[in-house]
Amino acid sequence: MSNSGLIFLGPPGAGKGTQAAIIAAKFNIPHISTGEMLREAIASGTTLGQKAQSYVDKGELVPDELLLDLIRDRLLQADAQQGWILDGFPRNLAQAEFLDQLLTEISQTCDCVLNLQVSDEFLVARLLSRGRKDDNEETIRRRLKVYYEQTAPVIGYYQNKNNLYTIDGSPTLEEVTAALAQVIKPFFDSPK
Ligand code: ADP
Repeated sequence: MSNSGLIFLGPPGAGKGTQAAIIAAKFNIPHISTGEMLREAIASGTTLGQKAQSYVDKGELVPDELLLDLIRDRLLQADAQQGWILDGFPRNLAQAEFLDQLLTEISQTCDCVLNLQVSDEFLVARLLSRGRKDDNEETIRRRLKVYYEQTAPVIGYYQNKNNLYTIDGSPTLEEVTAALAQVIKPFFDSPK
């Protein structure tokens, strides 16, 4: 079986979530955001939500073991069999290695990894204007630090696998969408 799996990487505030939602609708595949899934779990008070809350509030990564079953279950759902966009996962090298093993196990593939690049000054300003509960200045700084220490190495991991595309996330929303769509389109056009 063949699918079109896409991973979106980028620092918090790069516009990943917004672009992932637009691209998912355009190519008719589900947008899988681990941040959204965790916020929903927290809002509905599930066991996962209770365990995750303090980490999310502080801007720390939630322990890997809480994410692994969540991702496995989500990728096995019916709507994910033709493809998906992962937004917020993998967020460290251990998660990237887990994802590789999982995809082999469930006979799915990741076709390309899109890395949205935006400079720090843009990021803080964008996040502060967004106003989510974890978007106060202290948590933002913590999330950026966590990003550079733990998530940025994931870029190199995919670079070595030759399926990384870096896109400038600083132009207008429409321009960034167009740049992303141009990279992604061939993966949907080519016969599987
Ligand atoms: P942002 O893009 O602003 O970082 P997200 O919605 O992707 O926001 O994530 C919000 C929070 O959810 C993170 O700060 C972290 O606590 C938690 N989180 C999301 N995805 C993961 C993950 N793959 N591993 C660990 N924690 C995660």
